[in-house]
Amino acid sequence: MAVPFTCTDCGRCCASLGRSISIERRATGRHYDCREAVRRETFRAEVSEEHRLAVPSLVGCPFLVWPSPERSACACHGTRPRLCREYRCASMRIFDADGTERGHVGGRRSLLTDDPALRALWDAGEGEEEAVWRERIEAALAGTGYRAEWYD
Ligand code: SF4
Ligand code: SF4
Repeated sequence: MAVPFTCTDCGRCCASLGRSISIERRATGRHYDCREAVRRETFRAEVSEEHRLAVPSLVGCPFLVWPSPERSACACHGTRPRLCREYRCASMRIFDADGTERGHVGGRRSLLTDDPALRALWDAGEGEEEAVWRERIEAALAGTGYRAEWYD
């Protein structure tokens, strides 16, 4: 059975991709006119009431906040730019022996694939603890001719 994608709020996307976002001016108390440099778009961000007093991260997007040390949040989630709305999180990509991408992993273990062999290999470890799972899947992928690129 497929594991649904779960965003872990690790903040990596906002710390890296979010560097393309800059505030050009403060329009009102909670509204900011911004520029996003990848798509070269402008947008008006509205900081949510919940995060109004949050201190922004020193790294990455100016709207990245950390309500707790383990979990990040977007202070302008409802008005975030297209780049963020269309972002597809990847922690791993899997290629076959010909170099064709056969799988894309979002979050920690959410596999997107149309390859039944890869799916079966993946689902065999459902419920395993993280370190055990990773060791097993690395060996299994290597042993069946796949090549994995991890992004952590
Ligand atoms: S989308 Fe991915 S990188 Fe971004 S916070 Fe969620 S798990 Fe982390
Ligand atoms: S606008 Fe929000 S979702 Fe987009 S990079 Fe910044 S914090 Fe992340």
